[in-house]
Amino acid sequence: MTRYEEATGSDREDAAFLRERRLTEEAAVAVADLVTVDRPIPLVVRSCDGAGSSYDPEARRMEICYEEVSEVRDLFRQDGNQRADDEVAAVLLETIFHETAHALIDVLDLRVPGREEDFADQFAALMLLDKGAVGELRLRAAAEAWRLLAEITEDADDSGEDEHSPDRERSVNELCYVYGSAPGRHRDLVSPDALPVGRAEGCVREWATVRGTWLNALGPALREG
Ligand SMILES: [Zn+2]
Repeated sequence: MTRYEEATGSDREDAAFLRERRLTEEAAVAVADLVTVDRPIPLVVRSCDGAGSSYDPEARRMEICYEEVSEVRDLFRQDGNQRADDEVAAVLLETIFHETAHALIDVLDLRVPGREEDFADQFAALMLLDKGAVGELRLRAAAEAWRLLAEITEDADDSGEDEHSPDRERSVNELCYVYGSAPGRHRDLVSPDALPVGRAEGCVREWATVRGTWLNALGPALREG
């Protein structure tokens, strides 16, 4: 259930991109294929004026921000990737799944092992990686965006106010899941700059555990078959 609000000013191009790519609709179909929820969880796409995408437990709705399209696009541009449409779409889709996880945790009253932010990232990985090679590339794009963001913010002071894992850590975790889900296709990820070999060794098992933990948490809400 997606509603697109009127975009303001410079967000208009981003709004057109999100509508055209139908990412929220794609996410909704994928989630509905996996779990049953009593009521659809509304999702609003809007100009957020600086606040990031989020799940609002009071209103029980997700908010995805138009401007994040430009923010992510700038990251790839600064890295020399001028027209990264597919990568930008992949990062936004990953964000939508991440916020969906917060919504499911709330609505289904799921038990969260460890930090909710990490668990939400892991749900996004689950949704993408279960689509096979296409999803693997999308998660790699998301991991690349977090890596680029980490490079930019590494020197800036880290006040520790963000409850998300540091961007670099998120990036490495996601690469570990990609590699763990299909090591044969992603050997190129194993390198000191991307997925260090010491971490890579445990990723097949790590991904199986992460995936199993989510499916187990969803339990009775999972669709049969
Ligand atoms: Zn979050």
